[in-house]
Amino acid sequence: MANKNTNILIVYTGGTIGMILDPASGTLAPFDFNQIEKQVPELQCLGSNIDTVQFDPLIDSSNISPKVWADLVTIISESYTKYDGFVILHGSDTMSYTASALSFMLEDLQKPVILTGSQLPIGVLRTDGKENLITAIEIAADKLSNGDPVVPEVCIYFEYKLYRGNRTIKQNAEHFNAFTSENYPALAEAGVHIVYNYDAIFYPRRKKELVIHTNLEPRVAILKLFPGISREVVKSILLCAEIKAVVLETFGSGNATTEEWFLMLVEEAIAMGKIIYNVTQCMAGSVLPGKYATGTLLPALGVLNGYDITTEAAIGKLMTLLGKRLNVKALKAYLESDIAGELTTIERKQY
Ligand code: ASP
Repeated sequence: MANKNTNILIVYTGGTIGMILDPASGTLAPFDFNQIEKQVPELQCLGSNIDTVQFDPLIDSSNISPKVWADLVTIISESYTKYDGFVILHGSDTMSYTASALSFMLEDLQKPVILTGSQLPIGVLRTDGKENLITAIEIAADKLSNGDPVVPEVCIYFEYKLYRGNRTIKQNAEHFNAFTSENYPALAEAGVHIVYNYDAIFYPRRKKELVIHTNLEPRVAILKLFPGISREVVKSILLCAEIKAVVLETFGSGNATTEEWFLMLVEEAIAMGKIIYNVTQCMAGSVLPGKYATGTLLPALGVLNGYDITTEAAIGKLMTLLGKRLNVKALKAYLESDIAGELTTIERKQY
């Protein structure tokens, strides 16, 4: 239910949602979010006090960077006590990367941070933007009977589903249901009512202060394997002097070619102190070292297990943890653990 007397901050970064049709030119142009209630008068019925912050210039989400994530985290932390929840309007293209990064950068978050956007601009007739925006605000404002927020997590709300942000991937460039979360259930579904999946929502055991991490290490890379990938390509990424960590997108349950040149390059990269993080190319399921012979060699060489983490979350996790300059043992232990709900480490039985 809409919550009276809640204060919500909307941060508009850019993206399709904030566009309206300029009748003079016939083209889509961003509208001034400070006038949001003129554009979406329905917001007045929600009962929340809404403030807005608009990025200048607005950013197509293809241009999002760790610097922008740090700006977002700073905005949230500086206004953390003033607001009950935050809604970030963001282009859908890289929304999963941003939601993932924020989940690691906002340690001990106890308030909702809901990202949303749309496939059609808010100013066109068939827009999905209005519903996404209105429900995202409702969710950010929703409280349990004890006054605590219902969803104290970084989430993506899109097309009637609320997801844990660091479990999502953008799956569709055409349909309104642009996002999916294959390895973790939706946190809520909006129909006639917003039905929360309380068992899936993470509730911190103790009240803690928000700790922010804004010093990210961007020198990471993604290496997606494919049959026939050449030694030169693998070498250029794994042995690149610049790169500190590589997300290795492997086949199925974490399998890779057993060609000697490949294993030697992996070994050499690890000897150089690089982190190699094994993430499956599949949308669902987990890295299970040892299920196949082709999956046993990587952990033996020191490749770390990403379990069922998404590539998007692996990037945010690596950048945040590397930026903390942890000792290698702690860094490796965190990478193979669930630190923000991003992976499932429960032992699975083999059949
Ligand atoms: N290109 C746009 C962006 O990601 C698409 C969108 O807003 O959904 O910024």
